[in-house]
Amino acid sequence: MTRDSGTAAGATTPRTTTATTPAAPPGATAPAGRTFWLEHAWLGDRVEPGVAVTVGGRGGKGGDGRISAVTTDVPAPPPGAEILRGLTLPGLANAHSHAFHRALRGTVQVGAGTFWTWREVMYAVADRLTPETYHRLARAVYAEMALAGITAVGEFHYLHHAPGGTPYAEPNAMGEALVAAAAEAGIRITLLDAAYLSAGFGEPPTAHQRRFSDGTAEAWAERCSDLRERDHARIGAAIHSVRAVPARELETVARWAQERRAPLHVHLSEQTAENEACREAHGRTPARLLADHGVLGPRTTGIHNTHLTAQDIALVGGSGTGTCMCPTTERDLADGIGPAAALQRGGSPLSLGSDSHAVVDLLEEARALELNERLRTRTRGHWTANALLRAATAGGHAALGWDRAGTIEPGALADLTTLTLESVRTAGPPPRLGAETAVFAATAADVRHTVVAGRHVVRDGAHTLVPDVPHALAQAVRALRG
Ligand SMILES: [Zn+2]
Repeated sequence: MTRDSGTAAGATTPRTTTATTPAAPPGATAPAGRTFWLEHAWLGDRVEPGVAVTVGGRGGKGGDGRISAVTTDVPAPPPGAEILRGLTLPGLANAHSHAFHRALRGTVQVGAGTFWTWREVMYAVADRLTPETYHRLARAVYAEMALAGITAVGEFHYLHHAPGGTPYAEPNAMGEALVAAAAEAGIRITLLDAAYLSAGFGEPPTAHQRRFSDGTAEAWAERCSDLRERDHARIGAAIHSVRAVPARELETVARWAQERRAPLHVHLSEQTAENEACREAHGRTPARLLADHGVLGPRTTGIHNTHLTAQDIALVGGSGTGTCMCPTTERDLADGIGPAAALQRGGSPLSLGSDSHAVVDLLEEARALELNERLRTRTRGHWTANALLRAATAGGHAALGWDRAGTIEPGALADLTTLTLESVRTAGPPPRLGAETAVFAATAADVRHTVVAGRHVVRDGAHTLVPDVPHALAQAVRALRG
């Protein structure tokens, strides 16, 4: 795909690129030929002033939720265009989410503790969720994400059954609640249905974990096979972790994903304790174990690739396995700083997630990746702002199985996020430094518009489908308090 490279200085007539191949409809239908005028647009490697983006409407037909043309050097809004004032990015992709962790916000910050003590509190919330309460909570959480400019979420989902492990009458009631919640909040979801079968190496699930378990990977696969993709929803697979899926069961999950060409995610190496337990049980690291059982590869993404050896980095990078870092959660849970820079140099594509939702702010995740590396190395400049934004957009969409997404170009999903350049955080820098401003100064509070499939989900900072998101969050969380 060629991209227009005209600049304000070098071109006086508008330049247009259009889609050359028909694209499958992935999202809700947008009105034919709808045009957005972007005051400033980030086009992957630079910021352009005055860009017109047309959605759908090719050949006089109805729109398909994809961009049909991008025209640069358009100094004023064309008649009838929707104006997006500020800096417009492609929609942000939150590649790793556990929606229910949002109920813990602020309640797990008192006193000392570790990842493992935090987990006990998290399990207490998990115990109280039903398909109804989870639907309400997830709808509010995904609406919060839309307000933060997130247009696609990867929901790493393991809360499958009723407490105690009894299946619901609809065995996928919990997953369906999440898919419906995303639709109602106006964002895309990749439901990464996770196999979670054991408490540790050779240990059956604990009382809390019984509702996560299908018993065997075969039973997991059977249940997942009933999940249907929809315009706004993709279905993927997940291995909770090497401690939660016995080695002999890993291949069943990997095969299920392979047969469907579906994304496969795995918590790879969040805690040193699980690395040690894995070495004790199998004489190898989690990365090596996953590689030996056919789990690694270009459609696989490792979450928290944090405690890796040089050999692990070579395995992950060399296989094209992705790396999803969740820096705000990793620092919140005292996990450690993963070798994301070395992984990317070794061939592992990067994406970002807000995971436990201690905060929901993909710009903060992007900023933290670079700043963590600066603290560790005491040198600056490991990633450019452009590279960090690519991880938050195209990288995340690729990890979630959304093709041709996370870019502003013909054929891509018409998902857009607009930041104001006039807030106390963003005022001042020249717009050509918009990428640097977005990553190193802006926050989720600077998101003014979120467009999904050519439709406003957030307009002027207000959600168009969920009228009062803070109220919805407060109510949903209150319902879960013990
Ligand atoms: Zn996670």
